[in-house]
Amino acid sequence: MGSTKPVAMAAVHALVVGAAVAVATPWALVVPVLVSLLTGPLGGAAVAGVPAFGILWLLDAAFRNGLPGSGLRAALPAGVLAFSAFVVCSAQLQLFRDPEAAVPSDLSVALWTGGLSAAAVIVTHVLFDRDPVAARAEPGIVDLAHPTTRSPVTTTDGTEPAAAASEADSAEHAEAARLAEPAAPAPERFDHVVVGGGVMGAATARALARAGDGGGASVLLVEQFGRGHDHGSSHGASRIFRRGYTADDWVALTGDAITAWQALEAETGRTLLDFTGALDHGDPVALDEIQAALERGGVVHERLTPDEAGARWPGLRFDTSVLFHPQAGRVRSADAVEALLDSASAAGAELRFDTAVAAIETMGDDVVLRLEGAGGASSTVVSTSVVLAVGSWARYLAGDLVRRAGASLPEVRVTQEEPAHFATELPDDAWPSFVHHPTDPALRARVSTIYGLLTPGEGVKVGTHGTGREVHPDARLTSPGAEGQAVLRDYVAAWVPGVDVDTLAPISCLYDTTPTEDPVLDRIGSVTVATGFSGHGFKFGAVFGELLAGVATGTPAPERFRLRQG
Ligand SMILES: Cc1cc2nc3c(=O)[nH]c(=O)nc-3n(C[C@H](O)[C@H](O)[C@H](O)COP(=O)(O)OP(=O)(O)OC[C@H]3O[C@@H](n4cnc5c(N)ncnc54)[C@H](O)[C@@H]3O)c2cc1C
Repeated sequence: MGSTKPVAMAAVHALVVGAAVAVATPWALVVPVLVSLLTGPLGGAAVAGVPAFGILWLLDAAFRNGLPGSGLRAALPAGVLAFSAFVVCSAQLQLFRDPEAAVPSDLSVALWTGGLSAAAVIVTHVLFDRDPVAARAEPGIVDLAHPTTRSPVTTTDGTEPAAAASEADSAEHAEAARLAEPAAPAPERFDHVVVGGGVMGAATARALARAGDGGGASVLLVEQFGRGHDHGSSHGASRIFRRGYTADDWVALTGDAITAWQALEAETGRTLLDFTGALDHGDPVALDEIQAALERGGVVHERLTPDEAGARWPGLRFDTSVLFHPQAGRVRSADAVEALLDSASAAGAELRFDTAVAAIETMGDDVVLRLEGAGGASSTVVSTSVVLAVGSWARYLAGDLVRRAGASLPEVRVTQEEPAHFATELPDDAWPSFVHHPTDPALRARVSTIYGLLTPGEGVKVGTHGTGREVHPDARLTSPGAEGQAVLRDYVAAWVPGVDVDTLAPISCLYDTTPTEDPVLDRIGSVTVATGFSGHGFKFGAVFGELLAGVATGTPAPERFRLRQG
């Protein structure tokens, strides 16, 4: 050993560490490269850096996986690999300082590192019934190239294009999996599986279950949290419904949305839309654009001065110019989600709450999903059509699948938005929904638009559009942002005289915002993706459900809502 040159040792050790760490996570390939570059004068930095990376990866896995216990499951192999890397690098550093130092041989280090990693795999599997290869994949995505992660599904036809797996490989893997786990129950098969029980998932499950002549398709909806939970984007009693867009197709969609919500009202006997009217006020240029689109779309509207508007709606103070359209107001969001779920259920869809998709993979036309229930019970379902209506979670569940199939999701910024309710003494009919496009440069520098509406029984909701703090959807901030609250208070004190500014009751909700504020509603292979509703999607829930059901069954997505190719 002592006769080996330190540089050669560095290369061998870097290879061993590289192979070990690469088993832990693909993007960690960078680390061994750095280790081999830095050995020598900067070996100390590498020695400190590699174990630190192991810990970082562990934390990353814990946060991004978002599944109870998943961080712990990932911890064991991560810890072993980090520790192995530490010992290997220490030995190399010793050799660099003193070529005659007594350190373990290459072979023993390789065997030792490999043995510990294998032990970690076995212990993790035995302890948690979850192999670390799945734990290290992009959260929720099982590595297609790794046969051990495949579930015992024998129904595979054709090749998996993105993984470039040959037909023979698929058959071999399926056979190996079948032989390895002969006692596993056969997976359930559905015509469609919808992931996500927010407004988009509920609406899509309903539309799929009702599609065709009297429905008949088997549809499963799975939602990781309970019915009506408040961890995503669709909770709370009210959302603005307005037709004030600048593009013709969006204005037309608001009309389709009214038709779709009213059909659901008729079916379920619930009131879902309240036509209180909607106001835009402030920047005349912004208002002109909206007015022109309303005109082109044949939507009734009127333009008012601030004084005229103030006399009609005394709860608000008005900026520069005012545009009102009466065929707008609010959608009763919590009731709407319930109505969609009830209707989906009535049409035969099966709804499973507290059930998370822990892993997902494509095998030919099939998509195989591993589900984890509340008590840790796991099961497998298979479908040739999976709709991922997972909003802010899309990057984690759909990103890799879409990439492998040759397309990509847009950049989706996930933010924790914190509007608030304020008490009012004014009657309910004094409150239209409103959007302020401020002209005051000081206010514009803080917020681009401010919106508001009455939530009956709770007060007037006021919020700044898309100004929240960026978060991981599984790691929400527990206390409201002080700065955001100060902005809201100042705003309400100046512009919403009809409420009591001291009664601020904060709300918290996720925005999934794309650069254009256009969502994705598109299909690639057997997977349909719905995400990026950018804080204005709820009003379209019922109609987007129908659109997604169409896309999932073969209708091309409208150009505006397509995935990026490549
Ligand atoms: C503060 C705020 C105000 C808004 N105001 C308006 C408004 O006035 N008008 C308007 O039209 N829109 C508004 N919106 C936007 C609208 O509410 C959203 O666009 C809409 O609710 C998005 O619904 P979704 O179903 O896509 O997402 P979500 O409701 O977040 O649903 C996604 C679901 O997927 C589930 N999921 C994720 N991963 C998994 C997994 N692995 N397994 C199982 N389930 C999983 C999640 O738990 C979640 O329930 C507002 C949004 C916010 C936050």
